[in-house]
Amino acid sequence: MSTNDNINDLERVLFNENEINSRLDELAESISNQYDKCKLTVVSIMNGSLMLTADLLARLEIDFDLRCLNVESYYGETKGSGEVFINSIRMPNFSGRHVLVVDDIFDTGKTLEAVVERINCECNPIKVSSLTLLKKKKEIKVNITPDFVGFEVDDLFLVGYGLDYHGKYRNLPVIGELKKGIIANPTL
Ligand code: 5GP
Ligand code: MG
Repeated sequence: MSTNDNINDLERVLFNENEINSRLDELAESISNQYDKCKLTVVSIMNGSLMLTADLLARLEIDFDLRCLNVESYYGETKGSGEVFINSIRMPNFSGRHVLVVDDIFDTGKTLEAVVERINCECNPIKVSSLTLLKKKKEIKVNITPDFVGFEVDDLFLVGYGLDYHGKYRNLPVIGELKKGIIANPTL
């Protein structure tokens, strides 16, 4: 099966390449304006925000430093367990720097909460803000919400543009809802 066939596993496309690109233009402009006079470190949460980080940072018109954090929030099927593992024993020192945490999607918010808390506690930054490309419309039970959001979305399981299901679909250029039949079929 070729990659192009994976698009047939989508129930529907929510955002196509043009829509993603124009929103990234807007987000990059806001970030370039906001951090114009600051020392900025972008902390990218891998693996989901790989595409987003590359495409967003390519659009920034300011200097920045980049750090990647490997974070696993258990997402075996389509719901998070609430457990967040940050795979970094020693965190970097961010003194004198503003930090922008970048993640693909804000669902329960537990990932972002854990990462921002750890950076605040261990890295001595001036201020930590956050950006997610997607934010699910649902009741938030954490004390954090992203400062920059690309798109608000319904509470569905989405794939594409970095978002995966069992490691698959990250390379779809669009973001879409995965067919329910695919989620029910564990032979992937
Ligand atoms: P949270 O901690 O906010 O509940 O979830 C954040 C992480 O769970 C995201 O970084 C992403 O890896 C994963 N996640 C949440 N919702 C979805 C979704 O709809 N699709 C996919 N593929 N991953 C999701
Ligand atoms: Mg993620």
